[in-house]
Amino acid sequence: MSMRILNTLSGKKELLEKPDERPLHIFVCGPTVYDYAHMGHARTYFAYDTFVRYLRNFKRWDVFYLQNITDIDDKIITRAKERGETPEHIASFFKNSYFEDMRTLKIESVNRYAPASEFITEIVKQVRALKQKGFAYEIEADGIYFDITKFPSYGKLSRRTAIQAEDAVSRIDESVAKRNRGDFALWKFPKTPPLPDESAKFVLTEDGEPAWRTELGWGRPGWHIEDTAITEHYFGPQYDLHGGALELKFPHHEAEIAQQEAASGKEPLVRIWMHTGLLTINGKKMSKSLGNFITIRDAVKQYSPELLRWFFLGFHYRSPIDYSGESIQEAQATFERLRLFLEKLAFVGEKNKEKEAATTAEEDAVRTTQEFEEALEDDFNTPAAIACLFKLAAEYQERLWNLSFKETEALRGCFFKLLSALGISINNPDIPENVRKIAAERDLSRDRKQFTHADVLRDEARVLGYSLEDTPLGTFIYKL
Ligand SMILES: [Zn+2]
Repeated sequence: MSMRILNTLSGKKELLEKPDERPLHIFVCGPTVYDYAHMGHARTYFAYDTFVRYLRNFKRWDVFYLQNITDIDDKIITRAKERGETPEHIASFFKNSYFEDMRTLKIESVNRYAPASEFITEIVKQVRALKQKGFAYEIEADGIYFDITKFPSYGKLSRRTAIQAEDAVSRIDESVAKRNRGDFALWKFPKTPPLPDESAKFVLTEDGEPAWRTELGWGRPGWHIEDTAITEHYFGPQYDLHGGALELKFPHHEAEIAQQEAASGKEPLVRIWMHTGLLTINGKKMSKSLGNFITIRDAVKQYSPELLRWFFLGFHYRSPIDYSGESIQEAQATFERLRLFLEKLAFVGEKNKEKEAATTAEEDAVRTTQEFEEALEDDFNTPAAIACLFKLAAEYQERLWNLSFKETEALRGCFFKLLSALGISINNPDIPENVRKIAAERDLSRDRKQFTHADVLRDEARVLGYSLEDTPLGTFIYKL
């Protein structure tokens, strides 16, 4: 089967192929580490994590998944001043909290996290190349800027012209002396330059700005340049797939294209641009001022990481998602329905060990796997893939009690394989001995037609968190 992904650059679904001679190269924009990661990050990083897991574990592709960490940024400098800390301390603290959050969410497919501060040499090299080729100019006591009029195809990703681009103000790039309003900073000089006799390679200026001593002069990189310096270091001037949230398309990703294609003279920088859709909270854009800013660490206090992943996979990666108490409860209900079905399958298999196979469970499992794969190969349509699982469950709902062990195992194997392809694990919880005893006593009561006592026992089990369901094969115990 062949994987097709909607390329934001062309607006068309395009073939994603693994090169024979090397791993597939994927880069996704990482966070700016000045605060705790939030649900917008969770959405984006769940999407690419699931995508890469599928490519690796299901398609058996070798994938190099690279992510940067923006640990030099004006937001970090501002936060450091607010807290009376150094920018390094703030960045290191929130970088570690980000890694913790990713581990909690079991987002583990990134091969390399590359912090901008470790790539100053590569960044300087790229800025120097852009200056030499005439794409960049210097404003004294301010910084080095990219001249967007020198790169005629600027705007090709977001389909904007350079004039329109001038209306967009990107962060840290305000300067009255810029040639064009849309020009963006590649390198920022510190407001107060360090003393000329300074022997250190790195200083924190009296204004609290981090500054590196380089051949460009003292300063720090602009936001966009770290991405291309990092990707060029690992992948070269061209690579396979770039991911990130839709709101980064302009100016950030547009700037990346301009920088790297201008510096190398090779295009395209990236074969496929894959963007994740927006996330709103209770119908509104997430923001601290609206009080609907939800961090990952707060979300996991309420919901399990598995449920959060399941919730996000229930939507197409490009669709807008509204995160609310209601929408997550809906996801919880479908998750429970699947878990119940899988536990019933295990129960039936156990009871019908000696039974002969009478259905086409094995063939249906093969067919479902194929449909599931087709859904994911078509622009990674996770809701359509999940629908295949429910279709199979629905087909077997009626004849569930008649299935043989062999059949239940074929179905269970199929479900577990496909769920694990999406990074979802559903565990069958062990039923404790005391609950088993209550169920056995209740069976006895029913045999003796002591129905009132049987009901009391059923309530007792419920208080302990288990439901006892009468089935043609006896009592089925289910953890609520
Ligand atoms: Zn980026």
